[in-house]
Amino acid sequence: KPIIEIKNVSKIFPGGMKAVDDVNLTVGRGEFFALLGPSGCGKTTLLRMLAGFETPTSGQVLIDGHDMATVAPNKRPVNMVFQSYAVFPHMSVEKNVGYGLRMDGRPNSEIKQRVEEALELVKLGGFGKRMPNEMSGGQRQRVALARALVKRPSVLLLDEPLSALDAKLREAMQLELVHLQATVGITFVIVTHDQSEALSMANRIAVMNAGKVRQVASPAQLYEYPNSRFVADFIGKINLINAKATRNGENRVKVEAPNIGELDLAGNVEGDVGLAIRPEKIFVSETKPENPDLVIVRGEVGEVAYYGSFSNVFFHIGGGTTLLADIGNISRDIEEFTFKRDEKYWLYWKKGD
Ligand code: ADP
Ligand code: MG
Repeated sequence: KPIIEIKNVSKIFPGGMKAVDDVNLTVGRGEFFALLGPSGCGKTTLLRMLAGFETPTSGQVLIDGHDMATVAPNKRPVNMVFQSYAVFPHMSVEKNVGYGLRMDGRPNSEIKQRVEEALELVKLGGFGKRMPNEMSGGQRQRVALARALVKRPSVLLLDEPLSALDAKLREAMQLELVHLQATVGITFVIVTHDQSEALSMANRIAVMNAGKVRQVASPAQLYEYPNSRFVADFIGKINLINAKATRNGENRVKVEAPNIGELDLAGNVEGDVGLAIRPEKIFVSETKPENPDLVIVRGEVGEVAYYGSFSNVFFHIGGGTTLLADIGNISRDIEEFTFKRDEKYWLYWKKGD
């Protein structure tokens, strides 16, 4: 049986704000699950209902098969790590980490041992006597993690746990959290508005918008097969070209876009549609490729953003349409990897992409 079941859960705050709108979600045991969506879409509210800090207006939350409706936060098999890693400033690291166990009235010898174990897990072995103000932001976040883990919850809830860290440290901590989750094996549910964070860490992601879950899938599924314009645009970068679709037989459509031409594609849509192509699926060549399976357009270099290992190049293809191409700086037999404004290239991609 799944560790978390969220059934038709809504939350309407006093004043009428519908922060969470009829959400259904199931999280399996041992998953690293991410709630991803723009700021204000209801992620924190959903997480707080799992923790018991908010009560659903309607619907049901089950953890480990038990209805949580009447279960207080401290009686739930979950623990939460907050966005602003709240550690008690006047307590040493070991006092911070052992706090929950002392509240539970565990014996001192057990507390000592479990605190040491938790500190080892977050790579703070030997830091027990330090005070929070003697530690970096990243280290304080590890203390908050240890304090949550020491209670051995079935589920760890993490609300934007890395958002206060700088980019370099954040990336390192992402890897560490993945490693930590694999080590302890408990279910992690992380909230983030950062799509690269969700893609790189989670095994499954629920994409939220305006209180609703829009799609639940693995990172690769979300990226390759977004189920809506919103998800396509929110996950990664994408070119969305206005086009017209007309039926072209059983499960086929003819899609027409200015300066791209006519495409015969699988699908069932009609009327105004968005033709979507990921920037890294676009290839660039000085000579025109000959292949009926490719979409081929002429493009002129506009803005260029150079990132070292790759460049983002905006190509004007006429009629006011611009295509972003993400061009990797793979081992090339050329002196310089640069694109200059107004240079003309052939752009092409596989029809299926
Ligand atoms: P997220 O974590 O995705 O940024 P939140 O869950 O914090 O979103 O908030 C969702 C919506 O609910 C927002 O519009 C927010 O202003 C509103 N909201 C959150 N908490 C409260 C509250 N206690 N009272 C009233 N409105 C709230
Ligand atoms: Mg939030």
